[in-house]
Amino acid sequence: MTQRIVEIEIETEEQPVARCSNCGSSDIYEARVRSAFWHGDRLVVVEDIPAVVCENCHEQYFDDSAIVVLDLLRGDGFPEEKARRELRVPVFSFSDRIASQGDA
Ligand SMILES: [Zn+2]
Repeated sequence: MTQRIVEIEIETEEQPVARCSNCGSSDIYEARVRSAFWHGDRLVVVEDIPAVVCENCHEQYFDDSAIVVLDLLRGDGFPEEKARRELRVPVFSFSDRIASQGDA
């Protein structure tokens, strides 16, 4: 019995190199990211979003299917009971920081 070696052609020149539309870098990679969204007065965090991230400027790009899922979540109103966990988030006031600048 002879084994046939099947050559797989890897298409390298077919597609133009993807570039970051923010800084023009081609140093981009796929990753799962988390992002925060305002929903009315609520701040919600979504994890594990498939995205393309620019190594250079850290801009994140979501593809259309990710945006559809995010829109569905938004349409659902980001229901509390569906949340995996909760984060406590410190809130600062810009003007508090300015006011305390004179103290020393
Ligand atoms: Zn970039």
